[in-house]
Amino acid sequence: MAAMTQTQPETAPGRLRFPEDEARLPWLSILLEALHVTDQGVAEAIRRETAQGRRLACRKGCANCCRTHVDIPVYPLELMGIAWYVAEKLQDPDRERIRERLRTAEALDACPFLIDERCGIHPLRPQACRLFNVFDTPCAVGEDAWHTRRRDVLTPLPRYRDQATEIMLPFYGVRGRKAVRQALREGAIHRLAGSLRECRWEALVERMEHEDARRRS
Ligand code: SF4
Ligand code: SF4
Repeated sequence: MAAMTQTQPETAPGRLRFPEDEARLPWLSILLEALHVTDQGVAEAIRRETAQGRRLACRKGCANCCRTHVDIPVYPLELMGIAWYVAEKLQDPDRERIRERLRTAEALDACPFLIDERCGIHPLRPQACRLFNVFDTPCAVGEDAWHTRRRDVLTPLPRYRDQATEIMLPFYGVRGRKAVRQALREGAIHRLAGSLRECRWEALVERMEHEDARRRS
């Protein structure tokens, strides 16, 4: 898992909208909807914790988690969203810097999307990054709060977690109330997760170059 590198509001940001891209890429609407529900769940969980006197430790510029966490689950739909965002939306200077990091991702000691202690793909960062929030004390260098102080790590609210999963399941071929319920019960979606830090990014770098060539022509 990993965390965010920007301040997480107690009110969820609105759903991202890219009307032209969503008309061309129907899967994008599914992803954006699911990410929005995830953000709503995170905002509500933070609100409940802060009402109990806890203080969110995650702040802009705090990015130890983006180095420490080497096993960040990422789902196929999320990877499609990241690839789309990086290839088609990201502008320089972030675009060039992320391209360079993707080229050398295996040698990096951090997530390839971490630039200047912030997430370079913040709008499309995976659910795992959205969900990992720590209370009271910022993570120390090298600390994974999940292991050192689990009680300070935000616990996702099941209602929102299931709703986000339910939105995505049809994309993975799970349709119909009964099948969706069974998939939720069995946590079937987790079998689809890969590891962000173990991804190979050559194809994405190539796609960025095709997109650059298209823009120049
Ligand atoms: S407090 Fe921990 S989880 Fe939160 S942004 Fe900082 S390093 Fe990441
Ligand atoms: S995608 Fe990478 S840089 Fe962005 S929050 Fe997740 S771990 Fe950090």
